[in-house]
Order: sequence, then structure tokens, then C-alpha cells
Amino acid sequence: MPDSLNADFLLAWAREAGHEYPLFDCHVHPFDVLTGDTAYQTSDSLPKLFSRPGSAYHPPAIMPENFDSAEIQREAVSERGLLLTSRFAYSHTGARIFDDHLALTGLSGALLLPVTRCPDRAEAMLATIQQMFDEPGRYFCACPYPVGMAREALYPFFYQMKETYGICAVKIHTNLVNLDPASPEGRETIEAVLEAAGSLGLSVIVHGGWTPGLQPAQAAQYGTLERLSCVDWSVSRAPVVIAHAGCYALCETEVTAALSLLNVLFEKFPNLLADVSNLGMGAVESVLRFSDRSRLLFGSDALYIPIWKAWLRFLHALYCVSPDPESDLIRIASINPRRCLSLPV
Ligand SMILES: [Zn+2]
Repeated sequence: MPDSLNADFLLAWAREAGHEYPLFDCHVHPFDVLTGDTAYQTSDSLPKLFSRPGSAYHPPAIMPENFDSAEIQREAVSERGLLLTSRFAYSHTGARIFDDHLALTGLSGALLLPVTRCPDRAEAMLATIQQMFDEPGRYFCACPYPVGMAREALYPFFYQMKETYGICAVKIHTNLVNLDPASPEGRETIEAVLEAAGSLGLSVIVHGGWTPGLQPAQAAQYGTLERLSCVDWSVSRAPVVIAHAGCYALCETEVTAALSLLNVLFEKFPNLLADVSNLGMGAVESVLRFSDRSRLLFGSDALYIPIWKAWLRFLHALYCVSPDPESDLIRIASINPRRCLSLPV
């Protein structure tokens, strides 16, 4: 890395832009997405921190020499390994830990994306989030896709969740909730969510790519762009965000193919955007180089990756790739996120 592009320089450069344009992380998880476990205890020592019994809290710290490592390995992970890692990442949650992450980067706020794999859990999850992240204007919340709900019940449910909890989006993790966009059943369900969410002005965030190690193996790839392209995303006119730019856990060759498909979808559906969350350094660079940068948003995928690490990868790649990094930064981390959070642009 050239000296001029060290971590301090990049962070200061983005902080400067953030004075005028508040910067947002549009992809963080308040709870582990595999288990959806929300059972935490309040901390005696720190307000706004929620912890597992017996786990000590160590605030995040930037390790600049270490921000470009850790490509996602698809083959190396089993579901058991995935569970162990994710439980470790979620020893703690709550506004305190996300405040600490945001403070390191200069970002102003984050969109929380809860996921549940069980029926009748979505509302309880939103109620818990309201207790743990009670800072409107800083923490924005998506409603988890309510597994098993009848299609005609979606609109009244999202309406109620918007009234009660102020949700601004709906999160669908196709792989974890077993929705195959290439099957008529899966496609119709996704389009029913788009119709209900869109008519309430709620953005929809959909997982894009593989989920390594997930069983059944077929469900591990429900989020690939080939499958997502079976859906008519124009059913909603509100923003729809394909997470990880559709490239989660893809190898280099697959990323190249996926990005040309992403551009085809961008052409076809003007409401479609993509976030750059939790991709390796090479993949972030490819997304910024080969896809339409005006359609991207910043997301980290915290707490599976520290926000500072995803932020530095993004800033470094943007600085290397973009002819006008400042305008791209403002669009990707401020203007497009504000559209998805229903904030004035
Ligand atoms: Zn995620």
C-alpha cells in the first residue's frame, strides 16, 4: 500500500466528508443471523451493553496493518464452524458496542438487519431491538422477513411494525429462511414482500451470494444473482438492495460473472442498489471498478467483520479505483444510504 493511502489518511479523508454529509453503514446485524438468539443480560458496568453471562467486553480497536486480509473461504467452512464463529462474534450486542465501532470510523449511524428463521419471532425481535438500540436518528431498523406468514398478512404486519417500531426496511435472507427465488413459490413470496413493503415506502434488503456451510446445500446458494434474477424487483418502487453486491463467498472468476449480471439487473430495475458488505479486498475493488458506482451503498456486515475493517477496505479500494473518490464516497456512504433509510437526501 502506498504511504499516502495509510489508514490514518483514509479515515481522516472520510471524516472530513462526513462533516457535511452524514455517513451510514447500511448493513449491520443486531443479533447472530444463524441462531437469531436475543437472550442477553444488561451489563452492570457499561450502559447500553448487553452480554452473555461471563463474557468480558473489549472495545474494538483499529489494526491498520490487518485491514485487507481475510478473504471469505467458501470450501473451508462447515455449519458447525459457522455457528461457533458467529456465537463468538455475538458475545455482546446493544448500542454501546455499535457506538464504539461507529466512533472509530466517523460514521453517523447504521441500519440494523435482524434475521429470524422461526415463525412468529419477528415482532418480538423488534421489541428487543427497541430496548437495546433506543436512539432514533442513529440506529434504523429493518423488519426481519416473518417466516411462514401468509402473503396477504404481510401488508398489515409491516404497516403495524412501521407504526409501532418505526421500521424503514425489510430484510430477507433467502438462504437462511429457505426461499428459493428460482421456484414459483419462493419468487411469489418475495414479490409479495416487495409489494407490501414497497407500498409502505419500506426498502427491501436481500442477501446476495452463498452462505458457506449451510445445510441443505441447495439453500446455501438461493441468494446467487442467477437465482435473484428470476424475481421482478420492479414490483416495489422503493429501493431494493442486493447485499454483498451478490458476491458473498464467491471466488474471483465467479465475482466477475456475477458483476456483469448485476449490471444487467441495474439496467432492468431502476430501484435496485447493491451494498459492498463483507467482501474481501479484491472483490470490493472489482465491485467498485466494474459495477455502476452510482448504485452502490456502504455496508459492513458487523459484527461478523469490524466496521472499521470493512470501512478501510472500502475507502482504500475506492481511492484506488475511482476517478472521483470524493463524489463516489458521498453517494455510496451518504446519499444512497439516506434514500434507503427514508431520510431527506
Ligand atoms: Zn449480513
